[in-house]
Amino acid sequence: MPRLAALCALPALLSFATPIHQEGKYEVPKLDLSLDLSQFSDLEGGLYPDAEGQGLGYWTGAFEGVPFKLEFSALDRAQFTGFSDSGDVAAIVSFNRGNRAREKGGSFEFEVSRALEGKFGYVPYGWFAVDEFHEGTMLSAHHVVVAGLTPGFGYLLEIDFEAPLSSELLDGLAAWASASIVYGGEVLDPQWSDGEALERWEANAPDEILKKLKKRKKKPQIIRTKYYIIFTDLGKSTAGSFGEAVDKNYETIRSIFPFDDVPGERLLPIFYFNQREHYLDWWVKNLGGSRESAERSGGVASGDVYATHHQAVNEPVHIHEQTHQIFRNRLRLSGGGSWFQEGVAEYMGSKPGDLGEIKRYASKEGGLDPFETFMVVPSLLMSSAKGGRKEGGSNAGLAYNYAGAIIEFAKHSKFGEDKFLEWVHAMGQVARGDLPAIRAAVSRVYGVTLEEFEAEFRKYWKKRRTVKKWHSPAPKPKKASKG
Ligand SMILES: [Zn+2]
Repeated sequence: MPRLAALCALPALLSFATPIHQEGKYEVPKLDLSLDLSQFSDLEGGLYPDAEGQGLGYWTGAFEGVPFKLEFSALDRAQFTGFSDSGDVAAIVSFNRGNRAREKGGSFEFEVSRALEGKFGYVPYGWFAVDEFHEGTMLSAHHVVVAGLTPGFGYLLEIDFEAPLSSELLDGLAAWASASIVYGGEVLDPQWSDGEALERWEANAPDEILKKLKKRKKKPQIIRTKYYIIFTDLGKSTAGSFGEAVDKNYETIRSIFPFDDVPGERLLPIFYFNQREHYLDWWVKNLGGSRESAERSGGVASGDVYATHHQAVNEPVHIHEQTHQIFRNRLRLSGGGSWFQEGVAEYMGSKPGDLGEIKRYASKEGGLDPFETFMVVPSLLMSSAKGGRKEGGSNAGLAYNYAGAIIEFAKHSKFGEDKFLEWVHAMGQVARGDLPAIRAAVSRVYGVTLEEFEAEFRKYWKKRRTVKKWHSPAPKPKKASKG
């Protein structure tokens, strides 16, 4: 579910403020930030002297001969409560541009979207995103977004170039950002400080458990593994085995959907309750909504967190929900739609035999909804028949199996294997249920229409034999990729 509040358009910037820069160097006390623009030529503009709204400054200039306009703004986290890192701040721009594009029947996704090492803020890494503009079929300009997060604000530098930049210049610009935007305030501990961990526990744990522990003057178990911080009311050894299992799952997911470690990235939180009732309490307290919808699940991933209750460590719910958590917080691929998100999670939580029923439906006329219908369903869970499905459970409903079967097809059919990751990244960046963007991504990656892709899918599934290399690791990239 989206946690970012709708964004008001940034105020139109009508007038230049008095330049107060010294050779392109600025201090921004509000963000505890210094900003060095001295590398740019023809620089004009500056910080607004009495900036009260989101706009902090405006410049024009040129980078290696390419003219640009630069808008600098800050979003107050009291209003934008969904930011957990700089990637979330950059996502606001994608969200807004996507909305504007969709109003005109178009779609939007960043061409490049990646973390930048540096001292960008409270979360040390910044975010670098590039958006391509075309005139006809010609690439005509690049718009670049650099984002960071401080305790009070998410900030954005939106740099609109008049012409496209070469990939060397884009790399140069990223290097400029890493060196020239320097935050001087306190930085989050990637391992979480004890105080911060306790604060999170107290904010999120069900009241009943908090009361009980308080009465007994006991502290919760907070366990740090290689990848996770686990908040639990279970004993150390049970929680420890769970911790080993989720770390192993994390590595399995990463072997199939690779991503790099980003220095400063934090342990992912998991709430792990002894009793299912307390997991349901957690859901109602933290996600709102009814207990009835909570009961459709054995675990849930939302925002940065995974919450669940004590059950066998190899229950598919864990790897299913961890896949959701990793797609959002590590791969940053939250798009595509419910079919895509549930598809990758279901693929990870299944054995090949679990998806077998799709063979039967794929052969039947009208047995499966066409892709163009299925791919815009907002929630497979809520659209599934009552009681027929538990989110992340092993007893998947047809829609979940169908979604998983599309991922299996993309990965394991001859049609898709070489381009599987490219397709996953393209789909994960498309706004959820944005059918024109889904169509465009399929034809960009595979050179076929969505209908042709679907026809291949049906062919594959009619003849499908059990996959032997199930969950096979992603092939190593042929060319060493930079950064
Ligand atoms: Zn799911």
